[in-house]
Amino acid sequence: MRLFEETLSIAINSIPRGNTFEEFFIEMKSVPWAIQGVTFCSEEGVLDLDVTRTEYELIVKGSLEADFFVECAKCLKPVVCSITAEIRRMYSWNPDMLSDSEVEPVSHNDGTLCILDPVREAIILSLPAMPLCTEKCRGLCPSCGINRNLEECEHGFEV
Ligand SMILES: [Zn+2]
Ligand SMILES: [Zn+2]
Repeated sequence: MRLFEETLSIAINSIPRGNTFEEFFIEMKSVPWAIQGVTFCSEEGVLDLDVTRTEYELIVKGSLEADFFVECAKCLKPVVCSITAEIRRMYSWNPDMLSDSEVEPVSHNDGTLCILDPVREAIILSLPAMPLCTEKCRGLCPSCGINRNLEECEHGFEV
């Protein structure tokens, strides 16, 4: 299969009939992720794609493994977070199948199947809700703003 990293899309004419599994090492910088508050720290992401093509359908299963920087929810220090984002989507050429809300049309505009949106959504869902640099992070002082992991201030602690 041919994958275009700049748009994270698969050339439809490169998808054979039947089931195809392929692993791609994608350069994370080249994909327009645009996810707020998240920076990729691995140069490469591993994208596994398992695509089934039938007469009317494309079933895309896949996962992306990559490392990200997210901010510690308490002290804002960047924390490395490894995630596996999983996707499963069904696309169809047959208009009759599109009444099923799980099935999306195959767009013919440029002969590619874009999986950027599903992968982006899966990344967002895989991010921890409250990342912490360490479980005991003392956070920032609400009065003076110093990082209480590194310094003491006169404002004391709530226990
Ligand atoms: Zn912290
Ligand atoms: Zn303080």
